[in-house]
Amino acid sequence: MIISMKQHTPQTGVDEVCQRIRDFGYKIHTIEGVERVVIAAIGVGDVTACLESLEAMPQVERAVRISAPYKFVSKEFKKDKTVIRLRNCEIGGGEFVVMAGPCSVENEKQIMESAEAVAAAGAQVLRGGAFKPRTSPYDFQGLEEEGLKLLRKAGDAMGLTVITEVMSDRDVPLVAEYTDILQIGARNMQNFSLLKNLGKAGRPVLLKRGLSSTMKELLMSAEYVVAHGNNDVMLCERGIRTFETVTRNTCDLVAVPVLHEMTHLPVVVDPSHATGKRSLVPALCRAAVAIGADSILMEVHPCPEKAVSDGAQSLHLPTFAAMMRDLQPYVALWKRERSGARS
Ligand code: PEP
Ligand code: MN
Repeated sequence: MIISMKQHTPQTGVDEVCQRIRDFGYKIHTIEGVERVVIAAIGVGDVTACLESLEAMPQVERAVRISAPYKFVSKEFKKDKTVIRLRNCEIGGGEFVVMAGPCSVENEKQIMESAEAVAAAGAQVLRGGAFKPRTSPYDFQGLEEEGLKLLRKAGDAMGLTVITEVMSDRDVPLVAEYTDILQIGARNMQNFSLLKNLGKAGRPVLLKRGLSSTMKELLMSAEYVVAHGNNDVMLCERGIRTFETVTRNTCDLVAVPVLHEMTHLPVVVDPSHATGKRSLVPALCRAAVAIGADSILMEVHPCPEKAVSDGAQSLHLPTFAAMMRDLQPYVALWKRERSGARS
């Protein structure tokens, strides 16, 4: 059950509702928004009696039965899509947003050239990893704070929003100081102490689907972030691990419309990690737009042959510009669909 309190209900009124819920044997979790408090009642059994009792309380705006284990991120809780407002764009609304940049921030020249090309091609967000989750401990681990500074500088120079990965709960304040969006990597999707720390980070979160995680698990992870106080979460399909070996991962594209049915959160596709191969990226970008993703997050590099990470899946900058041009008719159709059909 989700109980939405009337605006500006005093604490005593909230306490009274919480006590009533406890009396029925449920646990509670509250989220305090600027204008109103929302309470999640968690427990087993039929909620009808409790629901009716709460609806009769004058300070209760709405009490809704929710059957899924994820509550705040469910469509039942919030019918309207979450729109995440950023410096120069918004994700989840009427705009198709492209996030692009190198896998890792390597040096000033590399990230500046990338930022210029990303902006010139019409993308809105610059990506670049400063803390890198590498399979081998001997691979490049990222420039850390120096990388964050360079990314911020490049983003500011081009008027772009920036996104970068945070790998540990300890680094959340540092990374949040430099970036606009906090990326949670596939390997950290179920790092629950990290997820809890994002609740108060004050920055939108892009949560990548784990390599072998179900959509429900992805939603439960998003629920952690929202339940700890941060409503601005977007979900990212970046390919899952299957028996197929031709591509780096298998892109579960149908996750996009499925997630749109299950949640109000924006859905992003990462065609780079999904394929591992640059020749496949433009086709997957077109497919992501066509299937209704809110945004794509992809890798580009001024010289992919020399990239310290993920060069094989990074587009050369001129190819990226051409791809962005070719994507426009698809984006136009996407906009027509957005403004009309889907709720
Ligand atoms: C990345 O975006 O560079 C990255 C490491 O992604 P993922 O967590 O999806 O593997
Ligand atoms: Mn990468």
